[in-house]
Amino acid sequence: MSRLNLVGLLPAELEDLAVELGASRYRGRQIATWIYRKGEARLEAMTDLPKDFRAALAARAEAAWPEVERQTPSLDGSRKLVFRLADGARVSAVLMPDGDRLTLCLSTQVGCGYACAFCLTGTMGLERNLTAGEIVGQLLAANARLEPGRRVSHLVFMGMGEPLANYPALVRALRILTDARLGLGYSPRRITVSTVGLVPGMERLAREGLGVNLAVSLHATTDEVRGRLMPVNRAFNLSAVMDAVRRYPLAPRQRIFIEYVLLDAVNDSVEDAHRLVRLLRGVRAKVNLIPWNPVPGNTWQAPPYVRVQAFLHACRRHGLNVSLRRSKGGSIEAACGQLRARKAQEEVKGKTNSR
Ligand code: SAH
Repeated sequence: MSRLNLVGLLPAELEDLAVELGASRYRGRQIATWIYRKGEARLEAMTDLPKDFRAALAARAEAAWPEVERQTPSLDGSRKLVFRLADGARVSAVLMPDGDRLTLCLSTQVGCGYACAFCLTGTMGLERNLTAGEIVGQLLAANARLEPGRRVSHLVFMGMGEPLANYPALVRALRILTDARLGLGYSPRRITVSTVGLVPGMERLAREGLGVNLAVSLHATTDEVRGRLMPVNRAFNLSAVMDAVRRYPLAPRQRIFIEYVLLDAVNDSVEDAHRLVRLLRGVRAKVNLIPWNPVPGNTWQAPPYVRVQAFLHACRRHGLNVSLRRSKGGSIEAACGQLRARKAQEEVKGKTNSR
């Protein structure tokens, strides 16, 4: 149990470890290449490492990613992976194919402490943070299950949890994911971190200079409504969040993503659309509208189709870059806001449907 997990160590730390074990830094780079570039977790398969070095390594460490306990395919081609972590906790990730793209939606915490009123994960409370190894491990496990030669192309941190509330593990994972030489080599532009609007975290991430995309869950255009939907609005209100949005550094063609869950008769009026346009004036933003996905025991409603269309068009008429996100995975409780850690026997098949 107390063996060091190599998954989640930065390439430089793997080099240090190799030195600690009496080998050269080069051996550390080989380990990084095996784990992150080739997706190999078995030390005995790392055949270009000298035998006694491998033995010394195995005595000290292992390379482990979370076990996929269950995989549930959805009618729309997406798949939910339920991971069982070393301590028995469970988190989910969702694989979403779309043409050439294969997006993986990752979790960063077991549960979530922000209690957004419309979100299933929010009802769990926060159980614990994931480690960087558990975050990167979701991707390694997902890639390992694809046909040879295929790999996840885009990553979104939109699964369970609030990424910026698990900041050190998030940034460590991002460094491993974006390291082009010895890490997984994902372009930062193919990675999106989504937040409820934790202003200090947004500013810190901006200073990190990683160049990843930021998505902000806005969901309302007044503090009154946002406060009702998202308790975090009491700590960071709309104007504070919008200031941080304006300050997030963007590359020339990069945009900041604004997530907006549409709830019937709550935040879906044409006036809301107009306020949204005003809030985002001067911001290079792309708005994703997400009709609310049902959460059991919840009394919210998704707006009728005509209201969704009216909202969309009111935004577009004023030049807002906005699109309607059809949530995937609704039939398997894998759509946005439907992730909750449950054991197999508790899963009720086909219970909800987001369309
Ligand atoms: N904590 C981060 C990451 C979770 S991302 C964040 O909130 O941004 C998940 C996205 O799905 C968020 O925009 C969240 O508000 C949204 N969401 C939550 N519950 C939902 C539901 N029932 N239907 C649609 N979207 C939902």
